Formats: sequence, C-alpha cells, structure tokens
Amino acid sequence: RQYSTKHDLVVIGAGPGGYVAAIKAAQLGLKTACIDKRGPPGGTCLNVGCIPSKALLNNSHIYHTIKEDTKRRGIDVKGAEINFPQFMKAKEDAVKGLTDGVRMLLKKNKIDYFEGTGSFVTENKIKVVKNDNSEVELEADNIIIATGSEVTPFPGIEIDEERIVSSTGALELKEIPKNLVIIGAGIIGLEMGSVWSRLGSKVTVLEYGSAIGGQTMDSELSKTAAKLLKKQGIDIIFDAKVETASRNGDVVTTTYEYKGEKKTLESDILLVAVGRRPYTKGLDLEKVGVELDNRGRVIMDSEYRTNKKHIRVIGDATFGPMLAHKAEDEGIAVAEFIKSGHGHVNYNVIPSVMYTHPEFSWVGQTEQQLKEQKIAYKVGKFSFAANSRAKTNLDTDGFVKVLVDKETDRILGVHIAGANAGEMIGEACLALEYGAAAEDIARTCHAHPTLSEALKEAAMAAFEKPINS
Ligand code: FAD
Repeated sequence: RQYSTKHDLVVIGAGPGGYVAAIKAAQLGLKTACIDKRGPPGGTCLNVGCIPSKALLNNSHIYHTIKEDTKRRGIDVKGAEINFPQFMKAKEDAVKGLTDGVRMLLKKNKIDYFEGTGSFVTENKIKVVKNDNSEVELEADNIIIATGSEVTPFPGIEIDEERIVSSTGALELKEIPKNLVIIGAGIIGLEMGSVWSRLGSKVTVLEYGSAIGGQTMDSELSKTAAKLLKKQGIDIIFDAKVETASRNGDVVTTTYEYKGEKKTLESDILLVAVGRRPYTKGLDLEKVGVELDNRGRVIMDSEYRTNKKHIRVIGDATFGPMLAHKAEDEGIAVAEFIKSGHGHVNYNVIPSVMYTHPEFSWVGQTEQQLKEQKIAYKVGKFSFAANSRAKTNLDTDGFVKVLVDKETDRILGVHIAGANAGEMIGEACLALEYGAAAEDIARTCHAHPTLSEALKEAAMAAFEKPINS
C-alpha cells in the first residue's frame, strides 16, 4: 500500500500501549503510522511476556493436574508425558495467532505499519531505519513514545539467555531444567518458577526481601501465596542477598549471603527476575530535549505530554505499574486527548494478577495502605473451602477479602487467592469504578454454583453476615 510520509500521529512502539493508541487514533480519524523494531506487533506482552507465559502456565497446569491430581477425581491416566517440542509450539502458535491478529487490525484501520527502529531527527520528524535497512522519514504533528521496558540487569551477572536467562530466555528453554534458581520473588519470577516446577524442575527462589509479589500485594495475600507455592515444592528463601553468579560449562553457580553466611547454589539454569526498567535507548531523545527522571522514565503530565507538548508517552516507558492493561487504557486515553483534549484512566482501579495456581489478584487498597493512611475499615472474608463450586472442583485453596470503609461501606480494595482469581477480579474492578458499597455486591444476584459467589459472600461478611460460613 502507498503511504504518505506526513501523518497526524506517529506512534513509536507497537506493544499494548502503542498499537492500541494507533488503532484508537485511526478510529478517531487521525492519519496514523506505527513503528516497531521487533517486526511482529504486540510488544513485550504478546511476544515475550503475558501471552507466551500464560500459554506455558496453562499447559503446565493441565499436565501437572493429569500427573498429580487425577486419582482422587476417579480418572486413571497412564503414561502422560510432555512432548517438549509440541509443548513449546503450542505457546508459539498462541503468540503467532495473536500478533498476526494485531497486524491485521493495523491494516484494517489503515495504519501505516513500519517494521524498523524509530528515532527523532527533529521535534516533528522521525527517521525509521527499517529492518531491511532501507530508511524513511516521517513527519508528524503528534508523536507518542510507547517504547516499553527492558529487563533490569543484575550488576555483575551476565545474561546469555542460554544458562543465565531473563524471562525471555526462560520462555524459550531448550529442555526442562533439573534445577532452576530464580533471583527475585516477583510475579514474573514466580510464574516462570511455577511453569518449570510443574514440569519437574527443582525450583529455588532467592528473594532479597521478606515477602513475595512486590510492594503492591496485600501482606495477607502475599503470605498465603508464599505458603501455597512452598507447598507445591517451590523453595523460597527470603533475606537472601545474591552477590554474584557465573557459568562454567553447563553449570551456573550462584553465591548469596544468608543470615551472615556465604552460601552457593548450583543449577543448570539461573533466571534473573529482579524487575524491568523503562526503555528509550536509540530514540535520540536528547536531540529534541525530552526529559527523563532519575529512573529513566519519560516525564509526563496528566495528559501524557512530555516537556514537548506534541510528544506524548504511555505504558512501561513512563510512570505507573508496568502492566499491559494499564498501557492499553493509556493508549485509548492518549488518542482521545490528542483528538479532543479529553481522556481518562482511573489509576485507583488497575488490577494486578499473578497467574500461578491458585491465582492471586487484587485491586484498590491493601490493608497495610489503609493502616498507613489511618483509614477506618472493615474486612469481609470468605474462604473457597466454603464455596460450593470450589468444592465440586476439588480446588478449595484461597479466599476473597473485601476491604470497606467502616463508615460508608464503600469498597476500598479486593484481594483474591483462588483458582480463577484473575477472572473474578473484573467484577471487583467494576464495583470500585462505580464506587459500589459492599451491600451493592451482596444484594446482586450471582449464579450458583460459581466461584464468584465467594465475592458476594465476602461482601456480605463486610456489610452484615455471610450465609455459608
Ligand atoms: P512494550 O510491550 O514493551 O512494547 C514496546 C515496543 O516498542 C517493543 O515491541 C519494542 O520493540 C518497541 N520499540 C522500542 N524502541 C523502539 C524504537 N526506537 N523504534 C521502534 N520500536 C521500538 N503484564 C500484564 O498486564 N499481564 C501479564 O500477565 C504480564 N505478564 C508478563 C510476563 C513477562 C514475562 C513480562 C516480561 C512482562 C509481562 N507483563 C504482563 C508486562 C507487560 O508485558 C508490559 O507491561 C507491556 O507489554 C507494556 O506495554 P508497552 O506498550 O508499554 O511496551
């Protein structure tokens, strides 16, 4: 297709932030181009993040269930084995299907999509060095930086993506490791640990702090998660201060300090999962004077404008939680701001999910945050052990916890540990978005028997009393 080099909007990066912004802008009538150096669109999320990890999590969970949990269900299974190439291909098929789908959407919305690296030439001119080495210059009235994030390196540990891997390498291992050591008990590390542990690896997680899941996780949820993952055989060592790691042939040796003692661990794979940091390398931002903060995040205002008003930024490259749905919502809002001057994302209602089994999900405030702010609150809790669907599924680990304002009954936070917690949190998001009270959920009819009745019962517990507990 012929394209013009003059656009209303050029989006750099086609991750969940960038491609959504491009589509929304095109729908609003802006002539839009989008650039991604990876080639296939979809960014980290579709190519090396959310999607491949969830494919491996789902299929490893099915395998683990067949292997370990069929007897009591009255199903005799013989000879269930992993066909490793096919197991990995199923993941690749999911990625390809979805990235092809995004490519089709870009085309359908008449967006000029360039596979190549974008950089600033002037404040309104972007040079694209295409992946076939040809070059094109695009002129734009508006530019969105949606270049995402990269793995935070661990000083002194060299990632070769073979034996010492980041999450990207951990999604593409050549065989099931016998031993896997993971630095960092954040969501990404624990999801990857779950995958390989279910397939038979001995997994040890070294965590610098004293809790899993990062700071945004409610501490009761975090403790429950640590307990349940340990029960599944994942060894989590808290207060482990990793010093260094090195590879010698096929063996990786990791050295850490624990309670004043030096310890070492040998493994065939070491996964470094200590976080992600904004990625703006190669954009030549300094040429146009776009400012970053001391953590490398592009500084923006409430309309996603950088210090150059027509250059905006969204997603992992700027402030806020590094989550695909946050980037997507910003993608829509930024396009609306460009078109009409109005857009909106409610940063108090961004859910988080850890897709282990059971899953852990949360939205709104944690108990520790409410205590810090001295907000008087009530807790409504309901255990899946008393939920009829969880019982029929023989899958009763976990609970729903609803935190409400003591005076007004308004819901302030919801925290769920349980199978399908990631799906269930959607209802809680809607409740928070609409400023619902616990009574609103308690008086809303929920289908029986479903796991979502546990949310209703937890809301009843916060508002008055539950029925089934
Ligand atoms: P990205 O998705 O990182 O996309 C940015 C794109 O910009 C990249 O494709 C890159 O190639 C391109 N780019 C960069 N510089 C240039 C340039 N100069 N020119 C052209 N292109 C450029 N989030 C969730 O919400 N749920 C999950 O389950 C989840 N799981 C994850 C699992 C893993 C293993 C990882 C690593 C991340 C996960 N995330 C998850 C986080 C999620 O992937 C990110 O928050 C999300 O992708 C951010 O979107 P983005 O559009 O800001 O950036």
